[in-house]
Order: sequence, then C-alpha cells, then structure tokens
Amino acid sequence: MVLARMDVTYGGSGEMELNEPVVYLVGAGPGDPGLITAKGLECIAKADVIVYDRLASPKLLAGARQDVEMIYVGKAADRHTMRQPDINRLLVEKAKEGKVVARLKGGDPLIFGRGGEEALELANNGIRFEFVPGVSAGYACPAYAGIPVTHRGLTSSVAFVTGHEDPTKDESDIAWEHLATGIGTIVFYMGVKNLPLIVEQLTKNGRAKDTPVALINWGCTGRQKTVTGTLADIVQAAEEEHVTPPSLIVVGEVVALRDELTWWENLPLFGQHIIVTRSRTQASDLVIALEELGAAVIEFPTIKIVPPDSFEALDAAIDRLDSYDWLIVTSANTVDFFWERLRASGRDTRALGNLMVAAIGPATASKLASIGVAADYVPKEYRAEGILAGFAERGICDQHYLLPRALEAREVLPETLREQGAAAVDVVAAYRTVPDESSGGAIRDMLVAGEADIVTFTSSSTVKNFVALVGDDGPKLMKDVAAIAIGPVTGATARGLGLEVAAEASEYTIPGLVQAVLDWSQDQAAVAAKR
Ligand code: SAH
Repeated sequence: MVLARMDVTYGGSGEMELNEPVVYLVGAGPGDPGLITAKGLECIAKADVIVYDRLASPKLLAGARQDVEMIYVGKAADRHTMRQPDINRLLVEKAKEGKVVARLKGGDPLIFGRGGEEALELANNGIRFEFVPGVSAGYACPAYAGIPVTHRGLTSSVAFVTGHEDPTKDESDIAWEHLATGIGTIVFYMGVKNLPLIVEQLTKNGRAKDTPVALINWGCTGRQKTVTGTLADIVQAAEEEHVTPPSLIVVGEVVALRDELTWWENLPLFGQHIIVTRSRTQASDLVIALEELGAAVIEFPTIKIVPPDSFEALDAAIDRLDSYDWLIVTSANTVDFFWERLRASGRDTRALGNLMVAAIGPATASKLASIGVAADYVPKEYRAEGILAGFAERGICDQHYLLPRALEAREVLPETLREQGAAAVDVVAAYRTVPDESSGGAIRDMLVAGEADIVTFTSSSTVKNFVALVGDDGPKLMKDVAAIAIGPVTGATARGLGLEVAAEASEYTIPGLVQAVLDWSQDQAAVAAKR
C-alpha cells in the first residue's frame, strides 16, 4: 500500500534537485553527542557531503544518509590537519558541484572555530551558507565538571580567551592587565601548552595566587578528567597528572563550587571505558544506556552491510514486480537497497502497485513508513513460526513471494512457505553482511595501550568476529579487560575462544546486560575501596 511519494528526500544524490547548494556551518557540541542542536541534526541528515574534524563526536555521523560523502579534515596520526585555505576551498568546490554541505565543528562554529573565515570565503564566492550555532566547550565542559561559569555573589562576568597565542609575544592581542583582574571567570581554550605562561601573566598582572583553577580534559565525554588547584600550584598539578589537549583552563572562584556540584563524574559507570561489539545499526540501545550511566563507550562494529556481488537477480525481480503477491522485507537494510535499485530502474514506489508488503519487525516497518509505505503485515512475533502463522491466516497457497535480503540469512522462512504451498518464493540478494575490519586496528591499539576496561558481547557471533578482528593474541590482550556476556551461550563461546568471562547477564536482554555491567563495576569499586 502506497501512502505518499517521498522520494525526493530519500536516497541517492540524483534526487536532490529540490535542495539547492548550501553550506551549513554547524556547531557539533563539545563531545557528548546529545549536545548538538535539533537544527544541527537536521543538517547532518540532509547533507550530501559532511566535512568534519576530530572534536565532532563520531556518533553524530550515524544520522547521515547512507550515500553521504564524508570528508575528514582533522588531525590524523599519519598526516597533518588540512590547512584552513584548503578547507575553505573544499567547501566552495563542493557547493559549486551543487551539493548540500554540512561543515561540522566541535562546540560552536564561531567560538575559536574559524567559522567566520569559512563563511567569508563562501560569501565571496556567492555561495549560500547558514550558521548553526552549537554548545561551546567553554561553558559546557565546566558544567560537566560541576562548575557554573557565572554564579551570583562569586562572579558576574566571564571571558572566553584563546590560550594559543604566545603570551610572551611583544604585542599581545590580549590585554592581560585588564583581563587578570577585570573579569570574574576566565576560560582559556587551547591553552595547555601555554599554561605556565598564562599563569605567569595573570599573577604578574594582579590576580591573586590563591585563585582556584580547573583543567578539564576531554570534557563532556566519558574520558573527562578534571584537575584542580590554584594559580600557585596548577602548573605542577598539570605536569603530575599529564594533562594534554584538548583541555580548557577555568580560572575563578566558581571553580570551588565543584566540591558540591560534581555530578557527571559521580555517575556509576563514569571512568569505565567499554567496548560494545555489535553492528553499528544495532548498537544504539546498549550504547545509550551505558552512556547515560556515565561510561565512555567505544563502538566496535563487527559486521557491516555492503552491496551483494551482483544486483542481477534483484533487478530482474524488480522488472517483474507485478508478478508477485507479496514483498517480504526482513530488515531496514533491504529497504535501502531495494529502493535504490527500484529508482535506478527508473521506477518509484508506485511500481509496488497492489503488492502486499510484510515488514518483519517494528524497525523495518518504521523504515518503510519513512518512505511512505505502510506495511500490510507486521508479525507480532519474530520467530519463523510466528511470522508464518500470519501468512497462513492470509492464505499461502498459490501466492508469489519476493524476498530480497542478505543471502547468508537462515532458510527457514522461504522453505516453510514453499512447503505450505506457495507458488513461488524468490529469494534474491539485496545486500551482504561482512566482517567490518575498519575498527579492528583501532580497538587492538586500545587493548594494547590498556585503555579498555570492559568489552560487552551480545551474541556468539560478536565474540567470534571480535576475536577474529583483534587477532590471535586477543585473549592475551584481554587479560585485564572484563568480558561481560549477555547470557550463558555467548559466555560459553567466549570461554571456548580463550577469553575469561567476568560476568554474564542473568536476564538475557540489553537491560540485563547493562545491569551485569553495573553490578560488575560496583563490585570492582567495592574491592578497590577495601584495599
Ligand atoms: N569551537 C570550539 C572550540 C575550538 S578550539 C568550541 O566552541 O568549543 C579547540 C579548543 O577547544 C581545544 O584546544 C580545547 O581547549 C577546547 N575544547 C573543545 N572541546 C573540548 C573538550 N571536549 N574538552 C576540553 N576542551 C575542549
């Protein structure tokens, strides 16, 4: 049943005539992916091209279109940051190609974000742009460290200052003599390297040596680390605690409020670095639950979705769509690939005509709804028996079924339909799932560096893929890392592959797994407290 045609907003960039070229200069927030604006998310969702750097949370990219072009312009181990003039040129070029571009910047694009320079370049080239302000690290990270940047009775002014400038240079752009005593709270961005010089300038120009100071490293993320002191001893504290960029320096009496207002760092899983091993599309519930408890979650997608070896069978089936009675859609991935091929053949949703559509699962049904197709049948139960019961009620005899999906999926559904008298069940390849090697190296590096505390496993296949992708010495690298399994079957697979299992969920669901992680982490804390 076709509800509406929404093809213009969906799929390949060929359909984007309605979107004129524009560059959105979007503030992506300070690290917690929840701290982006609703408008920023909209820009990500409609972009043909996303240009981003390291301070924008990678999780935000999950909301992008499947066919989006992602361009990373931040620092990478193997090369330097793309130079600003090159970034400017890139934005102009992409817009001139007719693309909708989302330029994501950490925090706010106009607070030490060079968004103004990029906008000038666009304006000079006659390209439309929009500023989409974001939550800046300068006040968000202090908030996550329990420090309000203004507070009645303590300070009525706050300044955001670059700490990047060499404070010894002869003609500083910063009026230190006014700043040091004229402003209540002073927040320095990009200042870690210059901390000794900043402290020296402030004290030399009259700021009291006992003024509280906080350094906030990787604020608003599960890696947040806050080091406090005073102007007299913060340099030493920074050295002792190895404070690195990106960090903020907060100077002022408000820092003392942290003693009473710490909240984020008190969450039960704060400080736990947890690797979640599911495919990116499936991981979200678990990731959100762990992050809400304060954990730093690293997603390790062990499988990924790619096109099949050939679309021949799918294309042929699309050519004779009117010969089928039912289209069975078993996953949101099918929706993506099937509709892309439908459009590639010059058709659109109207080609479904009187075809009945079955959606296996609510996520698939809502994906279909998002492109204007209301499923005629959504089984209440997702085991093969439950699905078949619904078809049986509607009469399987003499029906022609089209089942586009991953070929490696189980055969139960098509075989039983055939046994029960279906005239034809055509299973055609719409996509493939393959081990995702992209993050294997990064996760290995984390394990080698001892940066992970927990790995969660939600199925036997995630254990197998994890071990395969990490490499033969996986069990050795996991020695000090707690493997926590969703249930006994997954746990047994892990032990069979040489991993020690720290805990198993007693209820075999995602909430059950989260509870197991919490219990384990609290036991550890109790043990540590006794020591
Ligand atoms: N436009 C950004 C700032 C970019 S300048 C914003 O509005 O937040 C980069 C500096 O911002 C870093 O050197 C650091 O000082 C600060 N910063 C950004 N994100 C941070 C984070 N999550 N934790 C601590 N400092 C951060």
